[in-house]
Amino acid sequence: MEDGKPVWAPHPADGFQLGTIVDIGADSLTIEPLKQGQKSFTAQINQVFPAEDDVNKHVEDNCSLMYLNEATLLNNIRVRYSKDKIYTFVANILIAVNPYYDIPKLYAPETIKQYRGKSLGTLPPHVYAIADKAYRDMRVLKMSQSIIVSGESGAGKTENTKFVLRYLTSSYGTGQDIDERIVEANPLLEAFGNAKTVRNNNSSRFGKFVEIHFNEKNAVVGGFVSHYLLEKSRICQQSQEERNYHIFYRLCAGASEDIRTKLHLGSPDAFRYLNRGCTRFFANKETDKQILQNRKSPEYLKAGPLKDPLLDDQGDFNRMCGAMKKIGLDDTEKLDLFRVVAGVLHLGNIDFEEAGSTSGGCTIRNQSSQTVDYCADLLGLEEQDLRISLTSRVMLTTAGGAKGTVIKVPLKVEQANNARDALAKAVYSRLFDHVVTRVNQCFPFDSSANFIGVLDIAGFEYFEHNSFEQFCINYCNEKLQQFFNERILKEEQELYQKEGLGVNEVHYVDNQDCIDLVEAKLVGILDILDEENRLPQPSDQHFTETVHNKHRNHFRLTVPRKSKLQVHRNVRDDEGFIVRHFAGAVCYETTKFVEKNNDALHMSLECLVSESKDRFIRELFENSNNTKDSKQKAGKLSFISVGNKFKVRTNVYTGSSFIRCIKPNLKMVSHQFEGAQILSQLQCSGMVSVLDLMQGGFPSRAPFHELYNMYKQYMPAKLTRLDPRLFCKALFKALGLNENDYKFGLTRVFFRPGKVRPSDNKPLSAN
Ligand code: ADP
Ligand code: MG
Repeated sequence: MEDGKPVWAPHPADGFQLGTIVDIGADSLTIEPLKQGQKSFTAQINQVFPAEDDVNKHVEDNCSLMYLNEATLLNNIRVRYSKDKIYTFVANILIAVNPYYDIPKLYAPETIKQYRGKSLGTLPPHVYAIADKAYRDMRVLKMSQSIIVSGESGAGKTENTKFVLRYLTSSYGTGQDIDERIVEANPLLEAFGNAKTVRNNNSSRFGKFVEIHFNEKNAVVGGFVSHYLLEKSRICQQSQEERNYHIFYRLCAGASEDIRTKLHLGSPDAFRYLNRGCTRFFANKETDKQILQNRKSPEYLKAGPLKDPLLDDQGDFNRMCGAMKKIGLDDTEKLDLFRVVAGVLHLGNIDFEEAGSTSGGCTIRNQSSQTVDYCADLLGLEEQDLRISLTSRVMLTTAGGAKGTVIKVPLKVEQANNARDALAKAVYSRLFDHVVTRVNQCFPFDSSANFIGVLDIAGFEYFEHNSFEQFCINYCNEKLQQFFNERILKEEQELYQKEGLGVNEVHYVDNQDCIDLVEAKLVGILDILDEENRLPQPSDQHFTETVHNKHRNHFRLTVPRKSKLQVHRNVRDDEGFIVRHFAGAVCYETTKFVEKNNDALHMSLECLVSESKDRFIRELFENSNNTKDSKQKAGKLSFISVGNKFKVRTNVYTGSSFIRCIKPNLKMVSHQFEGAQILSQLQCSGMVSVLDLMQGGFPSRAPFHELYNMYKQYMPAKLTRLDPRLFCKALFKALGLNENDYKFGLTRVFFRPGKVRPSDNKPLSAN
């Protein structure tokens, strides 16, 4: 960087602004903004980056820019976004900006056809290009492949995942039912696992790994969905302006009269589990006003004041039923699902009050009597059994080593509320498991040669208040980041070494210590939490203190108060901890960690539902272990498996591709590019480290044999008798290329950034 040349300097809202350097200090620069009438300012040297000569130019592969840094990346993405080019490559990594509107033809069947069989780089960047690369790699290398889609909530992960699935099934399917079923499974999964949040009107509240399986001939034979971590707390409570899972509202809004009567459904605001979120009719549309005025009208009774103006629950209900039909669910099965959903709603309406006696226990409020009836009826339970199980718990005493005696302990109002919510969460999450299992039965396959898996899980999260859910999600992302580091950064380095380029080592922050902090045996936070759950009187405070005691002076962990990190000093030291993640420090508030880690039902409730008269309910609970300990283990296993399952799977791949989704603005509107916000997402996703690596390295490359095949026809016969490596050397000499711009490895030639012009880059691209 020199005086007078344009540079990118920090800008609070846009991320970066153009300016020129007017003075150079020890570690700061004085910058004069290019925009007329703005005052010059100083910036840290390491926050100022060289700009390309033409800042309005954009390139399909960011690596063909001259300067690879976060500012030129951001600018490239910005220019492209303004032209509706939402996809950009950084070498093999695809960046996808959410357009928040349907770009004409972008996903049309013709477009799908175009990308079929084309190498990366021959057509504009697209999620289809990544899907096709995965397919071709699978076919050529005879190895399963994975596509990892990441980004924050609302960035477009789930939409892009669906585009990948649709691409693969329509390009390489057999044209039979199975192709459509893989696509149609989504509306069903989304009905039960998605909800409206402040960040996304259709936010997936679970992670998923969808595999498309192929036979020996590389045609689609079936699919398999694994799911991780359904957010359970949402079932009983939602934050302001958020909703419960779609299915609850859709069922109320869309079910036929017959079903509504059978399931005793009213409008959503009649249910506790739905009416505490805060979505309301906007009442600005004439029709909405009319509906609101007539509180006895059928429309009002169905949607009620909770009708969300942005969502069409009734229409969505019909679409969901259509999808159910396509994947082969019959009416009985459909009603089974709806019955349980309604059962959960009625369960939530059961209220307790202190019992008049001296027992210290509670009873079910009179007003809830009918609700208990409904609930018992829908879940196939005896009404009296349900009453008893909700207001008391059975415990086994082992006094004096004698054989245990069963005693019944009355519950306080608060405890009974918890028991009710635990039951609701257990029933609903079992139902969700069932939905996934059922979906998997729709695309069975006998044998599969290989598969392409697409991972769609929530990205790194940090909010004003962060709890157990954020902790789990961020842990998952920490593991994904490690995988990304290993794959992209380590492998790049190893390739340079293997090819004998003699390039300096590139540094990246290894996050193994952070992963250990969470998952190490005995001393890891997860094990400490499990241990706490096993204590006779577990408490969040005691858990938090143990975490701090075991990890004094750990680089990745700090107490909130003493933290120099300034995140949430108002959290007491025994109320939380701060973890320094790869993407930033997050303060977790530990209230409810213990409860959220252990959604274990009271033994008596568990027995009750697993012996339901209703076959379907019984089946939901069939595989559960009844003892508390094994139950806990099961819970933990399934949790750890989030990371572990992933690790095992990805290890067998030779190829994984990454799609980094970007949310352009917080308003969820089209054509608005909030630079600073986007920059922080690029930094969080590790893209900036990738650029550092590429800038110091040789991001464009081409195998000798490819160049040989491409150019031999233009060369004299004498040259074509050379082996491909020598051939290339001769070729480069003849072309007069600058020797600093490329390096010969053992099997391929490597180019410095910006040294392959985009038009040349096409045949020369790596894949
Ligand atoms: P995430 O799964 O990352 O939370 P989604 O995939 O659900 O985000 O996307 C959120 C919303 O953004 C979608 O409901 C859709 O309205 C919009 N969206 C995302 N990707 C696209 C796209 N490629 N084209 C048009 N709209 C999109
Ligand atoms: Mg999603």
